[in-house]
Amino acid sequence: MTARILSGKEAAAAVEAGIAARVAALAARGKAVGLATVLVGEDPASQAYVRGKHRAAARVGIRSFDFTLPADAPTAGLEALLDRLNADPEVDGILVQMPLPGGLDPVRLIERIDPAKDADGLHPINLGRLVLGRPGLQPATPAGILRLLDHYGVATAGAFVVVVGRSFLVGRPLAILLGLKGRDATVALAHTATPDLAALTRQGDIVVAAAGRPGLIGAGHVRPGATVVDVGANRVGSSLVGDVDWAAVSAVAGAITPVPGGVGPMTIAGLLENTVKAAELHAVS
Ligand code: NAP
Repeated sequence: MTARILSGKEAAAAVEAGIAARVAALAARGKAVGLATVLVGEDPASQAYVRGKHRAAARVGIRSFDFTLPADAPTAGLEALLDRLNADPEVDGILVQMPLPGGLDPVRLIERIDPAKDADGLHPINLGRLVLGRPGLQPATPAGILRLLDHYGVATAGAFVVVVGRSFLVGRPLAILLGLKGRDATVALAHTATPDLAALTRQGDIVVAAAGRPGLIGAGHVRPGATVVDVGANRVGSSLVGDVDWAAVSAVAGAITPVPGGVGPMTIAGLLENTVKAAELHAVS
């Protein structure tokens, strides 16, 4: 079997078209949409991600404001910047690029962002709304993964989904979203203490790999015909590779996301969607 490729580039283009129309509708009412990015340090991968987010914002008509601080920037300085951005009416969405240099507490900074401008959807208020099943700004990567599955007609209702990785950024909120009424997946959340990972993932109709371990998911981890979503974005030498052994798994799976060009573009689409949603709410308040 050769797996069908679930292209995040293609699905993100469809999402971006919808966002561009919403941005244009706001512009017609005199409301420009603005996204502020905060990058701490000089990690080349993070710099590339931020540039990609600015390019995507420009494609849909969102203005971006770029803030880059040195790796040794003190927490107090970052908090002061976030306070300024929270108060700036030209800024509808704020994102702090992860991972942060050692010594900075990501949760402390996320908590400082106004929940109404939380472009990554990771503020405790938004994560709380997610658990409650209430509307809010949703975590960009999990929301992007669901949109990708929807785009290709991969049903989650009734499916058994194995999510590998339990970070607050990806795995844990994704598991919650999948289990909500209406999504109706049955979910297993795996991590480093999960015994016999392969035996578990082989039961999955859908396997989501979000561990940050290149090649963790091999052919023996996947039931023939299953859908495999590779969230991993690992630098190996000069290449970007996922958590899935692409060559082996694409011969077994029914459908698979590539790296790059899979979940990455959908994360950016999720971020832009949160920004325009925030702007729409700001425009009526
Ligand atoms: P993280 O915070 O390091 O969390 C990794 C999770 O994977 C942890 O829960 C860990 O378990 C689990 N894990 C690690 N090795 C494992 C193994 N051998 N077996 C089972 N579970 C294992 O990472 P993250 O921030 O969630 O990111 C995960 C990956 O996704 C990274 O490659 C990251 O670059 C990528 N990512 C991509 C996008 C995108 O847009 N494409 C967005 C976000 C993240 P424990 O909790 O037990 O340690």
